[in-house]
Amino acid sequence: MSTVYADLHIHTVYSSDSLIQPKTLVDRLLAHNYIKVAAVTDHDSVRAVKATMALASAYPDILIIPGVEISTTAGDLLILGTEELPPKPWSPQEVADYARSINAVSIVAHPYRLYGMGDIARTIKIDAIEVLNGGSSTAANQQAKQMAKEEKLPGTAGSDAHQTSELFTVCNQIQADLNIDNILHAIKKGLITTTTQTNGN
Ligand SMILES: [Zn+2]
Repeated sequence: MSTVYADLHIHTVYSSDSLIQPKTLVDRLLAHNYIKVAAVTDHDSVRAVKATMALASAYPDILIIPGVEISTTAGDLLILGTEELPPKPWSPQEVADYARSINAVSIVAHPYRLYGMGDIARTIKIDAIEVLNGGSSTAANQQAKQMAKEEKLPGTAGSDAHQTSELFTVCNQIQADLNIDNILHAIKKGLITTTTQTNGN
């Protein structure tokens, strides 16, 4: 088993509030010293997923994880490992159940920030909690970390980048091979640690 470094929460131009082109994301991934895995998680859209994966497929040492950030009725929920949107209605539990049904990973995004679920996250059956979000305050990330600890769930990191300069500000170290199923499985098993990283970009 090897170690991969990943940014698990990134928006492309298919999120109305992001400026990152799929090609730019792939280029940055290629150029980075060690982060070679990135999850595309647009707001309520999977439109960028196939194109970004196709661009990345030309390079054997980088990997795009298909995903989405769903605006559920209670707050944002990331799904990693889907190229499709979940069926509506988008209640947190229904979206999390959809993720489970297709062997994807459900992650409560930035629970203690705007559009976060807050303590509602404790009441639904999810796979992980985003404990390090590039757009959240230290205090909000700390609270999320505490929640993950109390709920005995794995913690993940995501830059939540909406512009190129925000890519890869945080990083996950995952005990897995460079393979989507392997990485998703490792996240669910908690074979993941999170770090803030400031160089190598
Ligand atoms: Zn986001």
